[in-house]
Amino acid sequence: MKITRLRLLGFKSFVEPTELVIEPGLTGVVGPNGCGKSNLLEALRWVMGETSHKSMRAAAMDDVIFSGTNSRPARNSAEVTIFLDNHERKAPAEFNDSDQVEITRRIEREAGSAYRINSREARARDIKILFEDAATGARSPALVRQGQIGEIVNAKPEQRRRILEDAAGIAGLHSRRHEAELR
Ligand code: ATP
Ligand code: MG
Repeated sequence: MKITRLRLLGFKSFVEPTELVIEPGLTGVVGPNGCGKSNLLEALRWVMGETSHKSMRAAAMDDVIFSGTNSRPARNSAEVTIFLDNHERKAPAEFNDSDQVEITRRIEREAGSAYRINSREARARDIKILFEDAATGARSPALVRQGQIGEIVNAKPEQRRRILEDAAGIAGLHSRRHEAELR
């Protein structure tokens, strides 16, 4: 599934509502140091279900909320939305009545975060399975963090197998089996 748009509101340095259209083909993000390039990629990982604040370069998850500057007060919430093209009906069956899947994650200070898929409340697990089936997501090998190449080279066989399973798109099957076993 292709990401067609990314919308940010109050996420890290993106205090102004910001919407990016992602055209087909290769997209480059350029700009001076500190302008928010890495924040953008973190927003992408966050809305795809990232659970580790450390990998968001944050001391706590609330720190992804705009923390204010000399001239602007801090915000109390942050929201990121991604739009996925579902013309090819690659989303899980329950979303196959729509050409677009819209996923939102919103965090309120001291109250944690919640997800919506096409405006309906969703569980973190729904988001996880959706992206695992699409062989992408917050921990996907398609999103390569700085330093990660070295980590893969040095990974233990068990960790490396997980990376390969994610790449092959079968991680979603493991999550479903785990869920079935819990019932
Ligand atoms: P470089 O080229 O050096 O890698 P970059 O474009 O990747 O830079 P980022 O790391 O994305 O830049 O952005 C860093 C900026 O984001 C810093 O100015 C930092 O103060 C700001 N920032 C990070 N978290 C927050 C937050 N919660 N609230 C406000 N600003 C934040
Ligand atoms: Mg950077």
